[in-house]
Formats: sequence, structure tokens, C-alpha cells
Amino acid sequence: MNRKEFFKTSLFGAAAVAAAPSLLASCCNAEKKPDTGAVLNISFQTGKALGESYAEKMDYCESLGVTGFEPGGWDLVNDFDAISKAIEGRNLKISAICAGFEGFILADDPVQKEAFDTSMRRIVEAAGAIGSTGVIMVPAFSRQEPCKPNNQETYDYLCNELHELGEFAVKCGTTVILEPLNRRECFYLRLVPAAAAICRDAKSEGVKCMGDFWHMQEETSDYAALISARDYLQHIHIASRANRCNPGEDGDVDNYVEGFRALKEMGYDKYISLECGSIGDPAVTTPAAVELIRNQWEQA
Ligand code: MG
Repeated sequence: MNRKEFFKTSLFGAAAVAAAPSLLASCCNAEKKPDTGAVLNISFQTGKALGESYAEKMDYCESLGVTGFEPGGWDLVNDFDAISKAIEGRNLKISAICAGFEGFILADDPVQKEAFDTSMRRIVEAAGAIGSTGVIMVPAFSRQEPCKPNNQETYDYLCNELHELGEFAVKCGTTVILEPLNRRECFYLRLVPAAAAICRDAKSEGVKCMGDFWHMQEETSDYAALISARDYLQHIHIASRANRCNPGEDGDVDNYVEGFRALKEMGYDKYISLECGSIGDPAVTTPAAVELIRNQWEQA
């Protein structure tokens, strides 16, 4: 490079830097995290959204900048037209569908298994038709009897059954989402990494899993649990971490930063849905919870 070329290049470089101070700032900011495409989409279950009608509930969601709505599966099937009409033209989508089926997939009683197969497929069809991310399911609640024994044969059976269900969900344009719960509610599936392993072994794009920050008291690390499920994570439930109220109602223990850090690193762009009650006035505690989630997402 001769002297003239050097000056031209330097002047161009100086002009470019002067024209783009934000670029310079970002280059010099060692703390800047890479953009993984992660997006904070907050969702409310039907009962969380204040209001009587679906339209009122959805108005409430929109007033807080909440972009997802999570109905129960039974409600979705029964109120399909009303929910579809209420959500039309809004900056709001149906997030996941919360269960609502009859029977259970690990039922040892053929009548209960048949009830699961029939009702679950009806909900999955409706979920696909309304553009939901998936239908949440638990393989077996601890109270559900008679249940197949917890052994290798049952694990293989579960993976085969989920494969079939997952392929059906894909045809409907949606998924089924395994939810691990705490040991009192679902001894069979307590950990997010265990749910992710079932997704892997079911070998269907339609079989996904989720984490629920309240049930995740079972995990040794929010970050590790969620990162381990990065290829299968389709939904998140959130609540205060001691009493399952609005995030923030249990004080300092309501810390989601490590979990959010995992979500941001993996480029999570599905929903974080509030599944909780409130010991305070929901008109105050619910907007405060949305604010807390936004602040901790920023921190993560
Ligand atoms: Mg949950």
C-alpha cells in the first residue's frame, strides 16, 4: 500500500467509525452477548388473564404486552370457535395447550388408554388448527392407577407410543410437550433432562419437552437442566418458587436469571407462560410479575 492509498483507507475508516458510533461501542463492549435470536414471549394461562370473556382476557394480555395465551385442552375443544374469534387480529397467539385429556398414556387399563388416545388426538387436532406450539402432557400422575410398572419395557413402550403421537401431531402442524413435575405429583418424570432424553428416544419431531420453574425445585441447576433440553425445549411455565404464586410474591427466591441465561444462549423464542395463583391482589401482583420477568431476562 502506498502513502496515497494508506490515507484513502484511513480516511474512509475514520469516516465509517464516525458515522457509526454504535458500531464502535459494540465492538469495544466486551460484555456484549451474541445475538442468538432469543425472544422473550410472555404468555398467560386462561385463569391468569383478568376478565370474564375470552375477549376481555385477551384485552388484558395485550394491555401488558403479553403475546401468548394458554388455554386448557378441554376448553380449546369446547370453545374452539369462541377462542378463534376472540384472538383474530390481535398481537397475541395461542402458546401451548395445557393438557385437558382423559386417561393417561401409561394406563394399564385399556379403557383409560383408549380414553387418552381419543381425547388427546382431538386436542392435538384443535391445537394444530389454531396454530399452537403444542399440547402439554404428563405420562402418568403419581395418583393415576393402574399404571404400567416403571421398567425398561415400559420405557420402550412409552417411546413407541410417543413416536406415533408425535407423528400425528406433526401432521396436524403442532407437537406434544412432555412436562416433568415434582416427585409428589409425578414420580415417573421429574427432571427436564429426563424428559429431553425421552424426546430423543421417541425419534419424532413432534415430541418435545418443557420446564416449569416451580416444579424445577427437583433440578440441581436451572441452567444445566434447560441447556440439556435445548434441542427439544418447546415451552416454559413460571411461578413464584415457594408458593406457586405470581413471580416476585416469594421475594428473593424468585430468581430465574440462570434459567433465562440458558434460554437466551440457546436462542429460545417460544413462550414463558405464567401458571400460578396469587396471594395478593392480582391486579397489582400480575403486572409486577411481568415486570420482574422482563427485568431478569435483561439481566440474564
Ligand atoms: Mg406446569
